[in-house]
Amino acid sequence: MMFRSLGQKNIVSGTGKSEWIYNFEKLSEKEGSDPATDRPEIHMRLMQSGPSLDEVQRFRAPARINIIGEHTDYNDGLVLPTTTALFTSIAARPRPDRIVRVDSRNMQDARSFDLDDIEPDDNPGWVDYAKGVAAELEAEGIQLQGADLEIESEIPLGGGLSSSASFELAVATALLRVADKSLPGPLLAKICRRAEIRYAGVNCGIMDQYTIACCKRGHAMLLDCRSLDVEQVAIPPSAGMLIIDSGVKHRLPDSSYNRRLDECAEAVNILSQDAPQFAALRDLSMEMLEMQKDSLGNLLYRRCRHVVSENQRVRDAYAALNSGDLVNLGKLISVSHASLRDDFEVSCDEVDQLVAIADECTGVLGSRIVGAGFGGCVLSLVEADRIDDAARQIRQRYKEVTGDDPWTHIVQAAKPATCSDIAPGDKVSGYAS
Ligand code: ADP
Ligand code: MG
Repeated sequence: MMFRSLGQKNIVSGTGKSEWIYNFEKLSEKEGSDPATDRPEIHMRLMQSGPSLDEVQRFRAPARINIIGEHTDYNDGLVLPTTTALFTSIAARPRPDRIVRVDSRNMQDARSFDLDDIEPDDNPGWVDYAKGVAAELEAEGIQLQGADLEIESEIPLGGGLSSSASFELAVATALLRVADKSLPGPLLAKICRRAEIRYAGVNCGIMDQYTIACCKRGHAMLLDCRSLDVEQVAIPPSAGMLIIDSGVKHRLPDSSYNRRLDECAEAVNILSQDAPQFAALRDLSMEMLEMQKDSLGNLLYRRCRHVVSENQRVRDAYAALNSGDLVNLGKLISVSHASLRDDFEVSCDEVDQLVAIADECTGVLGSRIVGAGFGGCVLSLVEADRIDDAARQIRQRYKEVTGDDPWTHIVQAAKPATCSDIAPGDKVSGYAS
């Protein structure tokens, strides 16, 4: 869904001194438009009687789509993600003080914090993602400046497309630019990951932030989460990717996500007893796993089997994407889903049902749950020229079965956060991608 400015006022009340004025128009098909490169379609105006509008700058960060390599990043493993043209958009205006005010349209809530007084919260909420980003940027030696930030995300929150990392990268980009500073993408990714771990309470891996900060437009990225070595691979035009939202929301800090991390850590603990150089499940081979089956017990054995087999699937998927072998890529995606469902146990009935429905449709080559799991979205690899038809069929069938008409999105690999945010006429001084 796209929006553009219409010039009608919708003044959101209850936001303190400032009035945040939004102008949205549903835009059907804009001829010749390319959402992956065009200006942000969400226009936000942050206005107040004092400072003029030309102080307002806009930024955006895309969503992350993980093609394959799920729950491998925090095990020092391999992932193959890309981005898509669904954005967290920010309108930002500098303030003369050290207060950051964040107004999230998604949350229908506005919060403020003082850059000189940021502490991790025992019970973190949405604003702690932004607080964490500010705190970790300052911890990196970046002197920030206060800002009013107005935020709107098109990404389903808690849907497995990493609205959280997109939010972090958009905030980081905005705060840096307002302070007339810049940082390279890989460092920004590490800072945002630390923010999510320390301030939002989610022990995430590096994949989401790294993808949103560094993945080249039109490419997928083979990322080694231990060395941070990257191979960018162009996505062939014949490879259509469809996202379908099951409608089941997860909430990570109190979900089973951190429990999976604990289980992996417990397995590493057991496996490293006789092999001190064993640091992460990345170091485990299938042969070693079979030998350690009894000491691990059935549950940890299955968790490990997912990670070891998924790392191999990522390697194979990279080769398949590189050679344009979409049939094989589709098979790997389907096997990944089975492994996430049966061995890692992060799927749920609705998602399994959606995967089964998608796989029956003409042109669909494979489907799986994406993101941390416990609900969220399904990714289907589809022959590109059949993708509209497949989307229609899947929606119709899912509605027949569940009564819900699922949201769908066709993936268009977008520019990363660090260079997708500059509009004609916006200030870009002191900023390097
Ligand atoms: P995912 O990253 O898969 O979408 P997470 O549970 O990791 O799911 O992140 C979702 C959380 O991130 C939200 O519950 C909220 O706390 C925060 N978040 C993401 N985008 C926004 C936004 N635009 N405004 C406020 N909070 C956001
Ligand atoms: Mg997330």
